[in-house]
Amino acid sequence: MKIVDGVRYYGRSYALRKEDENNCINEIWETGGWGQYQCSRKRGHGPDGLYCKQHDPDRIKIKQEAEDKEYERRRKVKEDANTRRLLEREFCEPFTDNELSAGIRERKEL
Ligand SMILES: [Zn+2]
Repeated sequence: MKIVDGVRYYGRSYALRKEDENNCINEIWETGGWGQYQCSRKRGHGPDGLYCKQHDPDRIKIKQEAEDKEYERRRKVKEDANTRRLLEREFCEPFTDNELSAGIRERKEL
């Protein structure tokens, strides 16, 4: 995006398109990644109402924070499971394989 005299222009340098003042100012990559164009959704959200709902920076930030929180929650669950497995293995080591098999057999007989 280029801004000339306060007006935004989108697209490749040799084919710049002036901003549509009804639409979101966010830039979207063209399929294939050759250039960018203006988002075609209606503006009305975010700072000065310049963004569409999807590209509202505040909404993106809130969404990102929620995703980060969920990622951290999942990471903690995995970490706890690993810690549990390590502790269980440590506590089981004093038993021999035969003792463990015997233990399982006894339990089956109950
Ligand atoms: Zn948008």
